[in-house]
Amino acid sequence: ENAQLKDIIAHAKEYGFVYPSSEIYDGLQAVYDFGPYGVELKNNLKRLWWETMTRLNDNIVGIDAAIFMHPTTWKASGHVDSFNDPMIDNKDSKKRYRADVLIEEKAATYEKAGDKERAQNLLNAMARLLEAEDLAGVRELIINEGITCPLSGTSNWTEVRQFNLMFSTQVGSVAEDASTIYLRPETAQGIFVNFLNVQKTARMKVPFGIAQIGKAFRNEIVARQFIFRMREFEQMEMQFFVRPGSELDWYKEWAGTRMQWHKALGIPEEKLRRHDHEKLAHYANAAMDIEFEFPFGFKEVEGIHSRTDFDLKSHQEYSKKKQQYFDPEINQNYIPYVIETSIGADRLFLMTLCNAYVNEHVDGKERTYLKFHPAIAPVKAAILPLTKKDGLPEKGQEIVNLLKYDFNIVYEDAASIGKRYTRQDLIGTPFCIAVDHQTLEDNTVTIRHRDTTEQERVAIGDLHKRLSEACSF
Ligand code: ATP
Repeated sequence: ENAQLKDIIAHAKEYGFVYPSSEIYDGLQAVYDFGPYGVELKNNLKRLWWETMTRLNDNIVGIDAAIFMHPTTWKASGHVDSFNDPMIDNKDSKKRYRADVLIEEKAATYEKAGDKERAQNLLNAMARLLEAEDLAGVRELIINEGITCPLSGTSNWTEVRQFNLMFSTQVGSVAEDASTIYLRPETAQGIFVNFLNVQKTARMKVPFGIAQIGKAFRNEIVARQFIFRMREFEQMEMQFFVRPGSELDWYKEWAGTRMQWHKALGIPEEKLRRHDHEKLAHYANAAMDIEFEFPFGFKEVEGIHSRTDFDLKSHQEYSKKKQQYFDPEINQNYIPYVIETSIGADRLFLMTLCNAYVNEHVDGKERTYLKFHPAIAPVKAAILPLTKKDGLPEKGQEIVNLLKYDFNIVYEDAASIGKRYTRQDLIGTPFCIAVDHQTLEDNTVTIRHRDTTEQERVAIGDLHKRLSEACSF
């Protein structure tokens, strides 16, 4: 872990954003809990995504499908047979690694040393072996490349095995009639199996989309980099059903729309990158990621995939239920093609946190603050009476009551005003509203702006409008 990521992890814990799960028992690897400010930030991100999808597009509606699904779903989707990572164990340290990641990391060292060609050749060799399902070959490549276990330092490797990432459990009260079901590894299938329900009951006409936010579970082998890769996480997916043949136009459209959305969140253009997949999954005819420059490099935040009619067709085959749509405009029945946009709420959270984290030294003084876009800031404004007497607290509470129905507001009257400003900076509150003796005379307050620390005098009557404008997205 690099130094900046370490600082961010420590900050997230210290100021109530993210805690390791069940920390009193030393935590559970790759599982995290969100604290009081974390849950506000995450809810704001989810709400913004949901509203952009379902309110700004009159042809997108939402659903909330169950985490458990009929086991055949995962046969049809291909997850039972091929949602695998190739893994390898080091016999000395007993530590398990993803074979492909070991090779990717080796390639990265070549690239860093300036040998791009060698890096690319290595990656190509791995891709060929994995495609041919030549796991012995993957092991040989690891050994020939001299890749050693970071823990034991040896190259005493086991064979490479495929490891399915789905968590399974049993339903049924007695062992005999129990059957294995899975915790969903993606939310998308809950949308596909409800395609006709939604189309009919919400009277949707192709092209239309279905959006969903919900938990997904993957037994990730490489569980590192904080909340970037978790075993329990939340996805926000939207499946957009289109007429066959029009999918690549829609793919282009959604790629542009989603990139715009990230910029509107306040992510600078140079920290975002589009990565087009050269190697496509068997069901896709175009795929790309939107990547963000995390402290550990450019990494995927969102995937946009043109999934053809693979999923609906497969569900039709397995369920024996027609998954067709009658298109009245062209008088034809067809299985729609699908463009999907898929983003992890937690990964989006990490992106906005990394982007917001500022640790600066100005005039010999250090200042740390989180420069969240006000629309996603956990707390929008802090109401801070200068002293605890002369009726200032009462006046402060009046202002809280004026704003609290529409904004997440905190009130604080203990400690020096400077300390209280610092505290709000650390959780990313964009506005501190100070109540002083002048307030009692003319009903004005001081607004202190987080990013510039500049202050201005504003009438109490204008506060609601000012906050609304600043927090709009
Ligand atoms: P990766 O290559 O990083 O494993 P993926 O390509 O398997 O990701 P998708 O299956 O396309 O990811 O999932 C869509 C989105 O869900 C990702 O862009 C990411 O934001 C999020 N996501 C996937 N796996 C995880 C995870 N283990 N923890 C947190 N978020 C995840």
